[in-house]
Amino acid sequence: MSEATFDFDLIVIGAGYGGFDAAKHAAQSGLNVAIIESREMGGTCVNRGCVPSKALLAASGKVRELADLNHLSGFGIHAAPVRFERQKIADHANKLVQNIRSNLTKTLERAGVTIILGEGRIEGPQKVGVRELNGVDRLLSAKDVVIATGSDPFVPPGIEIDGRTVFTSDQAVSLEWLPRWIAIIGSGYIGLEFADVYTALGCEVTVIEALDKIMPTFDPDITKIASRKLIESRDIEARSAVLASKIVPGSPVLIEISDSKSREFIEELQVDAVLVATGRTPSSKGLNLESVGVETNRGFIPIDETMRVIVNGKPLPHLWAVGDVTGKLMLAHTAAAQGTIAVENILGNFHQIDYRSIPAATFTHPEISSVGLSEEEAKGLAASEKFELGIVRSYFKANSKALAELESDGLMKLLFRKDTGEVLGAHIYGLHAADLIQEVANAIARRQNVIDLAKEVHTHPTLSEVVEMAYKQASIQIKK
Ligand SMILES: Cc1cc2nc3c(=O)[nH]c(=O)nc-3n(C[C@H](O)[C@H](O)[C@H](O)COP(=O)(O)OP(=O)(O)OC[C@H]3O[C@@H](n4cnc5c(N)ncnc54)[C@H](O)[C@@H]3O)c2cc1C
Repeated sequence: MSEATFDFDLIVIGAGYGGFDAAKHAAQSGLNVAIIESREMGGTCVNRGCVPSKALLAASGKVRELADLNHLSGFGIHAAPVRFERQKIADHANKLVQNIRSNLTKTLERAGVTIILGEGRIEGPQKVGVRELNGVDRLLSAKDVVIATGSDPFVPPGIEIDGRTVFTSDQAVSLEWLPRWIAIIGSGYIGLEFADVYTALGCEVTVIEALDKIMPTFDPDITKIASRKLIESRDIEARSAVLASKIVPGSPVLIEISDSKSREFIEELQVDAVLVATGRTPSSKGLNLESVGVETNRGFIPIDETMRVIVNGKPLPHLWAVGDVTGKLMLAHTAAAQGTIAVENILGNFHQIDYRSIPAATFTHPEISSVGLSEEEAKGLAASEKFELGIVRSYFKANSKALAELESDGLMKLLFRKDTGEVLGAHIYGLHAADLIQEVANAIARRQNVIDLAKEVHTHPTLSEVVEMAYKQASIQIKK
């Protein structure tokens, strides 16, 4: 039931996954909800992120598989040379985007959410201003406000984007052309996924990484084994500890390469195109957060574990923030989970988020995934809480299903407490790693221990036995 003094019970600013889940859950729980969106419904994930990139990866992955004559001949299969149509691959991604965007919009409409297209901003406690697409400016009031404005690609200084020869993932997902030679700046998950797409489709790739090693955000053991297949075996030159200090669009694109530490000029590269994949920056400028005293941290909105916005160390009543704009594990499912949790708290049901159990995946061929603590974090925790850290490795080459698929390149590393057996984290590289990680994420969410987990029966022959083997190895090490 709506309170008479407010236009809405809840206004959500931003219709990405965070805003969508918050608005849907609130409306389905009986609140009178409006959602404000300045671009396309569905936000980054649906329009410029997860959805189109996974469509490109699905198509290019099939091209890679059919073109891998060695792999196919292992099954006795001799395929004709593979042909593909770039435009049709791009169309597949585009159609999927339209389909999912339309479904998401209909879901909100059916739930009774008022959709307002325009730019939202905070205009004081429980007040939201909106400049609609037709230029009309309105002031609305709501009992609660959720900010879910997401993020945009971060482009370092010195790099000029023209959207055609030098671009970010926003444009790359359209796959408008296939450059003969493309430089990818950054070897995080977005850079790696696009390197997977481009090399499968016949492009030569140079990866430029400013940090000391390639794939710096991944577990070092996983990086070691994954980079052999994902980088070294492919048409990729990977350069670390170097900076693309200046990039000028054109034909060719000019890249000035400098030493990351000394900033000394090394050389100039001339390539056909550059994809800048150097991280994401929060979309919080223009939200007029000053009107309620919110100070951001490099643009990220500070929140507590219930999604309340924090000002001077205290939660601000009726103002919530979720998703990439909060800078926590910037993933679609985090945003969605935060959106639901914010609404549960608005409804008076106390809920906190558990970031440790949120998995992350990179959809390369093969995939990489992780959940929970990194080895470094786990070592830190072991030192501060004075327990012995257990680490076991389970290999895909010992798994019947992986061997049957001729895809036995893979490793799972499991981190656990040797005193209680509690699972602390897992890192997987191998076939369907993105699906396999969910089992460990669920175990972490329930704070389960490896002794109990090792007793759970897994289907044979499946890749899930890689996880079962890790639990079994770990359970032997638990002090009883
Ligand atoms: C190439 C790529 C691949 C990715 N792949 C994956 C993946 O496989 N899995 C995964 O989990 N995550 C993936 N992500 C990350 C994922 O897209 C984001 O974590 C997710 O979209 C964040 O959701 P959000 O709701 O916080 O923000 P967003 O999706 O960014 O949505 C925010 C919305 O708010 C709108 N907005 C901003 N300011 C205003 C304003 N003032 N008024 C009104 N509206 C406003 C924006 O237009 C946008 O629509 C990927 C990202 C990229 C770029």
